[in-house]
Amino acid sequence: MKKYRGIFFDWDGTAVISRKAPAEEAAAAMKGLLAQGVNLVIVSGTTYENIAGGKLETYFTEGELDHLYLGLGRGAYNYRFEKGKPVVFADRIPDREGILRIHDAAYGVHRELLAAHGLETDIVFCRPNYCKIDLMAGSDRGDQLFMQESEIDSLKAILNAHGIKGGLGELLEIARKAGQNCGIEIKATCDAKYLEAGISDKSDNADTILDELEKRFQIKGEECCFWGDEFVGLEEGIYGSDSFMITEKTKNGDFYDVSSVNGRRPENVQQIGGGVERFLNFLKEQRGQ
Ligand SMILES: [Mg+2]
Repeated sequence: MKKYRGIFFDWDGTAVISRKAPAEEAAAAMKGLLAQGVNLVIVSGTTYENIAGGKLETYFTEGELDHLYLGLGRGAYNYRFEKGKPVVFADRIPDREGILRIHDAAYGVHRELLAAHGLETDIVFCRPNYCKIDLMAGSDRGDQLFMQESEIDSLKAILNAHGIKGGLGELLEIARKAGQNCGIEIKATCDAKYLEAGISDKSDNADTILDELEKRFQIKGEECCFWGDEFVGLEEGIYGSDSFMITEKTKNGDFYDVSSVNGRRPENVQQIGGGVERFLNFLKEQRGQ
């Protein structure tokens, strides 16, 4: 593989096996590259506290941290390090009025699903710029009919049983319309149990941080690569959360999927499999180049 100047990667399932797994191995693999001035960018839906127990900065020197970035909260926050401490340098956090519009849109989704389809949901409101809508909150939970092989199949069965024949696509369309009714553009994603509806996603993280790398180091999209374990399609034309790193701005980069799951991926994604070990080996290979 060529030597990259910017390496964007997902955290859970790509750099560590799970959120709770120790971060030592990932940090060790990252360290050498950061010392060389290669820019590493963690793009994850979670919060800073959930990455390496909120202590990521303790693994690196100030000089190394100069080349480490994080794009977190599905587009909400972008971090760099100043004097060894994490600092949000760009965010997509709306004011109170903006937050309330997102809440209104989420309620709109709840209302439409219940009124038109008899599908009950619960909403988690306390998120920085989105709501989580629990699609399996109602009486369907535990019903044998919906105990499918995968969560996504369970969700499709639930949607189908409630007359939402267009599956996830129709669900995302309901969210977009609910946003329009509230005067906002809703970016919605679905990971089976939850529909997340807000104003940003991983694409905002990828674009904002690539912009920053361009400004600081004149790095272009084609000098970067993007790694994840969730590119695979959930349904025709709807891909996993890591696929949101593919944008107009980043599309000339190289995209790698460490997941071995069968299924369709966006056309510019190379499935190489091998999980966390494969990704950490890649980091070590890059250091040697
Ligand atoms: Mg992942």
